[in-house]
Amino acid sequence: MTMLLDQPKNCQPWTAHSARIVDIRPEVPGVATYDLVLDDPQVASAYRFRPGQFNMLYLPGFGESAISISSDPARHDVLSHTVRVAGNVTQALAKQKVGDRIAVRGPFGSDWPVNACRGHDIVLACGGIGLAPLRPAIYHILNHREDYGRVIVLYGARTPGDLLYTAEFSAWREKKLEVEVSVDVGTPDWKGHIGVVPVLFYRLRLQPERTSVMSCGPEIMMRFVVFEALARKVRPENIYVSLERNMSCGMGFCGHCQMGPYFVCKDGPVFNFRQVEPYFHLEDL
Ligand SMILES: Cc1cc2nc3c(=O)[nH]c(=O)nc-3n(C[C@H](O)[C@H](O)[C@H](O)COP(=O)(O)OP(=O)(O)OC[C@H]3O[C@@H](n4cnc5c(N)ncnc54)[C@H](O)[C@@H]3O)c2cc1C
Repeated sequence: MTMLLDQPKNCQPWTAHSARIVDIRPEVPGVATYDLVLDDPQVASAYRFRPGQFNMLYLPGFGESAISISSDPARHDVLSHTVRVAGNVTQALAKQKVGDRIAVRGPFGSDWPVNACRGHDIVLACGGIGLAPLRPAIYHILNHREDYGRVIVLYGARTPGDLLYTAEFSAWREKKLEVEVSVDVGTPDWKGHIGVVPVLFYRLRLQPERTSVMSCGPEIMMRFVVFEALARKVRPENIYVSLERNMSCGMGFCGHCQMGPYFVCKDGPVFNFRQVEPYFHLEDL
């Protein structure tokens, strides 16, 4: 869970901190990764996040958006955010240049249970930009590879040109992550799988009693991921999903992101499937 009050005063998440954009990497059309360095050295050195958490990125005059942190949690010099252009804030962000400044509040939200899953096999099932919030968990696993059993990344996107971070896949494979990639629509030179992410489960032989599943992507994809995992006897309490809702304050006050008894901003975005099971099949909650 988020530890708002555990943070030093100069690093509390309701305070917006100025940050400089030190690098912008176009990833796929409409999506870029922004590397940020917090201006105040004290804030920068105190700032810590856990895999799966997000920041509120603020552009004066445009507003604030929840964006997952996509960098290595062990790296304290830079914070990365991979952003798809959607509306007001993200369009304004796309016009920023290296050296420009934005404001950051955070980190917020719950995290992937990378410590609780030590000793387990892990399936990370994600679609599209859903790989961004899982990437810090992947880095954590790579940094502590011996703590985990089999680690399988199932990743899909609409087309080969929509796949994120492809340049990193070979390094992940070198550290014995199994990376299975699929696209909905191939191109003449595409040699990988075609089909949606849950279908990649058909090829897996899992040891369900020791397997945990973490999933992020479109909710329809996550529903089928959960279905496939349960069909293979993975325990529901070992399945985790990251939910996105339109959110505003990030601290559970405004109610924008309420889902049943939960506020996605402070109780999520990462939920154990058991918690959200009653709401998981309901659209637009
Ligand atoms: C916990 C969390 C983590 C996120 N991480 C990322 C990330 O890493 N990268 C990224 O690109 N985006 C991420 N998002 C989504 C991002 O916050 C929205 O796209 C955001 O609204 C963009 O702001 P905007 O002002 O550009 O667009 P807006 O003008 O706010 O929105 C554009 C359109 O998208 C709709 N919308 C807004 N938020 C959501 C949402 N959460 N789900 C569905 N529709 C929405 C709006 O109603 C509107 O129709 C995350 C959202 C949450 C809740």
